[in-house]
Amino acid sequence: MLDNYRHKGMRNKLVDSIAKKGITDQAVLEAMRVIPRHLFLDSSFLEYAYEDKPFPIGSGQTISQPYTVAFQTELMEVKKGDKVLEIGTGSGYQACVLAEMGAKVFSIERQKKLFQKTKAFLPGLGYAVKLFYGDGYKGQPAFAPYDKILITAAAPEIPNALLDQLKPGGFLVIPLGGGDVQTMIRLEKQENGDFIRREFGAFRFVPLLKNKADD
Ligand code: SAH
Repeated sequence: MLDNYRHKGMRNKLVDSIAKKGITDQAVLEAMRVIPRHLFLDSSFLEYAYEDKPFPIGSGQTISQPYTVAFQTELMEVKKGDKVLEIGTGSGYQACVLAEMGAKVFSIERQKKLFQKTKAFLPGLGYAVKLFYGDGYKGQPAFAPYDKILITAAAPEIPNALLDQLKPGGFLVIPLGGGDVQTMIRLEKQENGDFIRREFGAFRFVPLLKNKADD
């Protein structure tokens, strides 16, 4: 898998542009300088890999816009050793950003083809991310509780199972809303099980779909 100086140059430019848009967490920016985003897209789309735009990855899904990946990751305040659950593996790019930051990553994808493709691809990059095929609404109770939970698809409501699987003191980040535009929400779980809710502006995501059947 090729990652040369040209790719690194394009990547540094992209990350500099994301920093200019307001991302300040250096660990997030550094991780994005390292991960070869072009390898997550089909090779004919090299030029698009380093634009700050979302891109189709097959099965009707998209790899999120780099700025959005950075924004969600920054909200999670990832620390080394954090156990993080991601809903919506997609290309696996976001999962690798978290892994590069030192998180132990668990990620769920409901599209079987995409799950298989990403599961075959990630080990070659050297990231030990645990991938699951299933319905993210249910989370992954076998490995709960998690320090952080990240939903990378638009959810019309916050799945209760995910709230249960979050550690006290932990964050859940979710683009909330059933329409075209979602509000980025961060919930912080208190020791008594209550949540502090903060809103972080408008974003657009592909929908979080309810049942496991492939389409
Ligand atoms: N994080 C991804 C981009 C996510 S796009 C990346 O870095 O490339 C949203 C993903 O959520 C899609 O792959 C979609 O198939 C998946 N998805 C939608 N509904 C889901 C559900 N209920 N459970 C798990 N994954 C789901």
